[in-house]
Amino acid sequence: MGCRARAAKDDLLRTTLVGDECVPDPRGTLPGRGAYVHPDEACLDLAVRRRSLPRALRARGPLTIGRLREWVERHQAPPQSEAPPPRANGAEEQQEVTR
Ligand SMILES: [Zn+2]
Repeated sequence: MGCRARAAKDDLLRTTLVGDECVPDPRGTLPGRGAYVHPDEACLDLAVRRRSLPRALRARGPLTIGRLREWVERHQAPPQSEAPPPRANGAEEQQEVTR
């Protein structure tokens, strides 16, 4: 929504309004009007700055997006330039055993 790039719904984060607060709704279970943004800070900032987010959510006042931003910070895709660290064979099984 913010960057206006088209994306599959699966790639987007649903957000909905609880009071004046924009909350993340990754499972799409919360009632009410929802808006979709990329789980990406830049996209979120754009959506807020362009007021497309408050408009989509029919918000009357300024929105609190603290929790939404926090979610995005935790879940946004790592920068493309950074390759994921190589994973040693069997690392996942080892974790299971030590638990
Ligand atoms: Zn976007």
